[in-house]
Amino acid sequence: MPDKYHIKTQPVPARRPRIGKCGVVDWREDCARCHNCVKKACVFDRYRQEADYIRGLTEMDAFFFQCMGCFSCVQQCTKGLLALSANPVYERLGNRYWTPAIIETTWSQAETAKIPVSGAGYRGKFSGPGFDSMWTDMSEIVRPTRDGIHGREYISTAVDIGRKLSVLNFSKDGQLKMPPLVDIPMPMMIDMLPKEYSLPQLLPVFKAAAAATGIVMIADSKDIGLLGNDLQQYLPNIAFYFSSGAPLLRKDILQKIRLAEISDDDKIDQRIKELKNINPNMVVAVRVKLDAAGVKRAVELAHRPHIEAIHVVADMNGDEIGAKNPRFVKDMVRQIHNPLVSDGIRNEVTIIAGGGIALAEHMAKQLLCGADAVTINLPLLIGLECHLCHVCDVSRCPAKLNELDEKYAVGRMINLIAAWHDQLIEVMGAMGIRDARRLRGEVGRALFFEELEEATFGKIFGSRKNR
Ligand code: SF4
Ligand code: SF4
Repeated sequence: MPDKYHIKTQPVPARRPRIGKCGVVDWREDCARCHNCVKKACVFDRYRQEADYIRGLTEMDAFFFQCMGCFSCVQQCTKGLLALSANPVYERLGNRYWTPAIIETTWSQAETAKIPVSGAGYRGKFSGPGFDSMWTDMSEIVRPTRDGIHGREYISTAVDIGRKLSVLNFSKDGQLKMPPLVDIPMPMMIDMLPKEYSLPQLLPVFKAAAAATGIVMIADSKDIGLLGNDLQQYLPNIAFYFSSGAPLLRKDILQKIRLAEISDDDKIDQRIKELKNINPNMVVAVRVKLDAAGVKRAVELAHRPHIEAIHVVADMNGDEIGAKNPRFVKDMVRQIHNPLVSDGIRNEVTIIAGGGIALAEHMAKQLLCGADAVTINLPLLIGLECHLCHVCDVSRCPAKLNELDEKYAVGRMINLIAAWHDQLIEVMGAMGIRDARRLRGEVGRALFFEELEEATFGKIFGSRKNR
């Protein structure tokens, strides 16, 4: 039996002072020096940790904001001297989509490689925009797949990128003719960073993290010089992206890569032919922007028999590109997947979806909506303690990414990918699904708020969906 896919991890501590959500303000002036001071009863031991933290403080403005906000000490102080305060730096992290909570949980996963556990159940909103309007159905908790979570049975997270056969096709000498396939151990690839957060110094780190986890990174062919001198050994884990008109790379490089990506233009057929002439075993994906025409274009491309994979990409927040009232990426992927199912060709082509994948659960949800695999980029950057500032300026980078230590950066990215893999196994186990290939389009294991609302209240209050 082949080895189980496993990512080796080890904790990689933060380099910068931690940015938590809350801190306690302690007005000591009127303190009665109680023998049983409530501070000693903090179950998270935050007061002792704060004292240690202050002793080793190197930056004057880095306050201790690691309180869990349980209010126990605040409510029980006999003199009412303690108050909880929100951390303004925490509140400024990210944007409306990449919320401080997402950034904080990503930092924690990159440090520990552990699944985030909030304890005492979920305290957030019942529903929200984007992926939050969708739930996975975990009612089928069946023993064989729970065994998979604990390692006694295997839950496979591997997927294949490439064109699949609709019927068996044999050569004259009886050999089965198979189109090339790229198998990756989890349905995730590393995409190029959006231009607002383009940090070329991260390319060698992405490359090393992709190789260590067995996944694939997409790199712009123009950036090949930034990938380092030891490129050859990493080529199976690199998919070069060729923008319109970009020259092809050297033959010896193209012959070693398994996957390439080309931008969508009127010369894609010729481009695919050129690449296949050099390396017939290479899978070529077409990158399609999810703008107003993106969904239609992806469906149209999927009907062409020589298109092996389509990489549809929304903006970094998962929104339709350039639209005033944008559709969200999960809905656009459903609009691509469903007609292909109706036309009976969905199994033949691979759909990879990118944009807005911020948490491990988004990966599972995007697969349920019809993608075969997803691409991520910003979570790996955030894993390096990035704040996702509105304007990325590395000369003033609060995460000090201009002084990058490669071992630290690769370790943090590996940890994050491992934590996402574990969460994918958790969610698959809880849904009773043992193979990530079966997740694709499995909407029977998903609940959509819009559909439930429509079915429940639409007849009474009128349809909101079609307004
Ligand atoms: S509010 Fe709770 S977690 Fe925070 S310091 Fe007080 S007891 Fe500890
Ligand atoms: S923390 Fe640094 S890398 Fe991240 S967005 Fe800000 S300046 Fe850019």
